Amino acid sequence: MTDRRNAFSADPMNTMLNLVEGYTEEMTALRRSFHAKPETGWTEFRTTAILVEHLKALGLEVRQGLDVINPDFVMGRYEEEVEAGKKRALREGVSQEALDAMQGYTGALAVLDTGRPGPVTALRFDIDALYVPETDDPEHLPNRLGFASEHPGLMHACGHDCHAGVGAALAHWAVDHKDELCGVIKFIFQPAEEGTRGALAMAERGIVDDVDNLIASHIACTPRLGHVTVTDPGYNATIKFDVHFEGRPAHSVANPQDGRNALMAACHTAVMVGSLPRHGAGLTTVSCGRIVGGEMRNVIPVKAVMQMEVRGATNELCEYVFSQVERAVKSCAEAFDVKFRIVKVGQAYNMNPSPDLARIIEDSAAETVGSDNVDHYSEKGGSEDATILMARVQNLGGRAAHFYYGADHKGNHRSDFDPDDVRSMPVGFTVHTRILQRLNGRNNPSI
Ligand SMILES: [Zn+2]
Repeated sequence: MTDRRNAFSADPMNTMLNLVEGYTEEMTALRRSFHAKPETGWTEFRTTAILVEHLKALGLEVRQGLDVINPDFVMGRYEEEVEAGKKRALREGVSQEALDAMQGYTGALAVLDTGRPGPVTALRFDIDALYVPETDDPEHLPNRLGFASEHPGLMHACGHDCHAGVGAALAHWAVDHKDELCGVIKFIFQPAEEGTRGALAMAERGIVDDVDNLIASHIACTPRLGHVTVTDPGYNATIKFDVHFEGRPAHSVANPQDGRNALMAACHTAVMVGSLPRHGAGLTTVSCGRIVGGEMRNVIPVKAVMQMEVRGATNELCEYVFSQVERAVKSCAEAFDVKFRIVKVGQAYNMNPSPDLARIIEDSAAETVGSDNVDHYSEKGGSEDATILMARVQNLGGRAAHFYYGADHKGNHRSDFDPDDVRSMPVGFTVHTRILQRLNGRNNPSI
């Protein structure tokens, strides 16, 4: 409690809360609407429809569907779940026309072209929820105020509802302040961040290929409410994948010699990957979280699927451990004479923010919450697929950086995840507006 008071005793914070008052209502209402009807990755049809309607009403050019998603690079999208998501969205008031415009793919891009020369700046927001049931604790804010998840087993437990709300309000702000801006501002609403599934398909559609500056952000638990951290190099690169083995059935006693055991290939792979050599240059991990296999007690198992992931401190280390696993899978398949298939279902890179853009974030954050409340942070454990869009921009000569804004919640991916939305979202919002003023301010673009 003392910490929170200290954070708010800073004058810039109070000034900031007053400044964004009108937008706070808008972003909070949107956030709470998304929170009440959470949609997991690739099923964010209602969320996308609401965002598209909002962005179009602002007069922005809006792109969606195959115009922002390259289907050849879509990962971890399951047709049955997608179809159920479409039906649910229709039941919840989305029009068939709005759904058709998405061409089966969620997410959207809004473009504000000021008509004046200047840099192209993209702001990226993720929009998906998690398979986490929401707590029934009456003190939990969504329960107290009646906006808790209406979708059993699903919840916005990572704050992407807040991100979507902040992004929508920022688009509104940018339209309101168009005369003070130059260049082009892109608002990216990315589907399926959880499981690091959605960014690659957007990157491979080329939506950030003209971008000079990309900013990504996350509502956080490490910095307290009223604090901002600028992200230093960190995050793990990761590849998430399913391994499918396919054998041949036979009676397990009468003629096992005719069978080909897919389940045994999976089990041996799981054991083998645990003893693969790590790399001396940095962290590498390999996990097998799930094996599903076999048909019945006395049949040689025909099918087995393994859910696996690898991580590495760098992209190279991640590729190294993935290639080791590939070899193990191949060898076990050969040993048991079964077929195999490796399907990537998610991917993210490690993060290397551009130092000069990170500095612009730092200055914008200091102006918002006071320099005493701005820090640096390097994420060691997690992964984040904004890194794919960031790397794409950087590889093409642009800059990319990332920051967190505090929210005093209890921790991501928990059923009692409960950010103080009314006071934390305006911080993220204002830092973004100040970044835009620095990068795309009509009189002082920094490039
Ligand atoms: Zn998240």
